[in-house]
Amino acid sequence: MKKEIIKEIENGHLLKKYGSWMYCDGCNQTVGYLCYTTYSYFNLKYKCKCGNEGCFKLWNKNNLETKINGDNLIKIKNRLCCPSDKSPLFSIVENRLERYEYQVICQECNTEYKSSH
Ligand SMILES: [Zn+2]
Ligand SMILES: [Zn+2]
Repeated sequence: MKKEIIKEIENGHLLKKYGSWMYCDGCNQTVGYLCYTTYSYFNLKYKCKCGNEGCFKLWNKNNLETKINGDNLIKIKNRLCCPSDKSPLFSIVENRLERYEYQVICQECNTEYKSSH
């Protein structure tokens, strides 16, 4: 199925069109990295240590399958990955952020993972 990404980004920007480094617009520092081939839905809300609050929301318009609820992501070399197929999804620069929460759906297995810190 064709991947057609819709995005809503507030107070931040991406290095590339649908992924790569995520920057905070308040301080221009990186807050995370999004792998652009492996998600079908991604939503990160954060409060940066500079005081800026932002959000990155991107999703594949053509993904109409019903999602499965997942457990926890696993960390492989700093990258948060899907535990069932090991797809690398994203990473967070934790020491730049005061708080953050995310919701992500792995394109490979259609499983949703969410967490807040
Ligand atoms: Zn910032
Ligand atoms: Zn998966």
